[in-house]
Parts: sequence; C-alpha cells; structure tokens
Amino acid sequence: ESDAHPVLAIEDLTVSFDGFKAVDKLNLYVQRNEVRVVIGPNGAGKTTVLDLICGKTRATSGSIKFNNHELTKMSEHAIVRVGVGRKFQTPSIYENLSVFENLEMSFPRGRKVFGALTFKRSPDVVARVEAVAAEIFLEAQLHTQADLLSHGQKQWLEIGMLLMQEPELLMLDEPVAGMSVSEREKTAELLGRISQGRSVVVIEHDMDFVKSIAHKVTVLHQGKILAEGSMEKVQSDPKVIDVYLGH
Ligand code: ADP
Repeated sequence: ESDAHPVLAIEDLTVSFDGFKAVDKLNLYVQRNEVRVVIGPNGAGKTTVLDLICGKTRATSGSIKFNNHELTKMSEHAIVRVGVGRKFQTPSIYENLSVFENLEMSFPRGRKVFGALTFKRSPDVVARVEAVAAEIFLEAQLHTQADLLSHGQKQWLEIGMLLMQEPELLMLDEPVAGMSVSEREKTAELLGRISQGRSVVVIEHDMDFVKSIAHKVTVLHQGKILAEGSMEKVQSDPKVIDVYLGH
C-alpha cells in the first residue's frame, strides 16, 4: 500500500496538561502490515500517544484518523469497536478462568463481556478460540486456569484476547517486559505474524527486541518526533545518540 493511504494518520496532535505539552503537534502515519516501534526517554510522551489513540486521554487539538474514523471524537468503546486494540503493561486477564474462557469472553467485538458467558458456545466461537490459542502458543493450555500460566504466557493470553476482537490496529506497551529470552523470541515471531493484514504499534525499551521486530522506529522526545526510519537510521542519528542512546 502506498504512503498516501495509511491505516492510522495522526496530524498536528497536541495534548496539554496544565499548559505542559506532553504531545506537541505530532504527525505519525502507520501503514497496514507494519510494525512500528515508538522509543524515547521516560516522559517523552509515548504512553500519552497510545492513550490519545485509544481515547483514554482527550486531545487538546489535532486529528487521529483510523481508516475513515476520526478517533478524537469517539468514546473508548467506540474506538474498540472500529478495530483498535490496546494492551497495557499489566495483564488484565481473569486469573480464575481458563485460557479458553478468557478468550471466549473477548468474542466478538461489541458484545457485552459478561453476556458472552451466558450464551451457548457456538461452533464459530470455539473455532476462533482454538485458532487464536494456537497463534499465541497456548493450544496445549486451553483448559488451564490463567493463574497457572507463566508471566509470558499471561502476556500472550492478553494479546490473544485482543485478537479475538479482530482489531486492525494493535497497540502494545512493553510486551516483553519480564519475559524470558525464549519467550521474547516467540513474541517477536508472534508480532511479525499478527502484523500481517494489520498494523501494530509497540512501545519498547529493549533495543535488541526493537531491532528484531521494528519495520520502522519513531523516536519521541519532549512530545515531538526526534527521528524516524529504520532502526539503523535512527540509531546512527546524532540527535538520537545525544538524547537517548548515548547516556
Ligand atoms: P513516556 O511514556 O514516554 O514515558 P508519558 O506519555 O507517560 O511518557 O508522559 C509524558 C509527559 O506527560 C510526562 O512528563 C508526564 O508526567 C506527563 N503526563 C502524562 N499524563 C499526564 C496527566 N494525565 N496529567 C499530567 N501530566 C501527564
């Protein structure tokens, strides 16, 4: 797809907290099939950008276009329904339910979460749950209670819960924090796979992991883009070395 038709187009996005601009006239374009990684020092505005996209924080000015939707005018629930999924750092799975039940609850988009449990299991729900469980390396744990999973498996389950909603854009905040080396490698593979036909935006601090997943890197600093491009390009940018990688 050409750069003229990004899935996500952020233009002149600004948010002020008591006059402090956490995000300052940001322009960001993300394509389908792209894994974009947003890096930058603490306080750069990375989390705030994701909060603005998912509707958790309201923009002071500017626009966030996702396909044909203007997200700055939509509620958080409406943003989920048009296909934007956000995973926070802390897993929010149901520890006392099985992997199957956690995934089932997230299907389909727009249905009331607790209503799903009272419905009879339809074959398409079961098929979807099984397909997603396989995608997130948990087919053998379908009937395992979630609190028995490893930390990494819980993170995958949460990604699976997002996948059940069939998002076109997935946003992940430090997805490999606390994961083992082998879990990190599998997560890199997972993100590559789920970006096919979708867009993925990731906040990440681990530079080796960034290198292994990023199609393009955006470096934020003081609410603005300091550099953007391939990992090699941004890594060798003197401005980036100065504020971020050089310390
Ligand atoms: P990052 O994720 O890059 O570490 P954040 O987006 O969390 O940065 O924060 C960017 C800046 O905005 C920080 O200085 C932070 O203190 C400030 N900030 C974020 N959210 C709020 C808020 N709700 N009220 C006031 N200041 C905030």
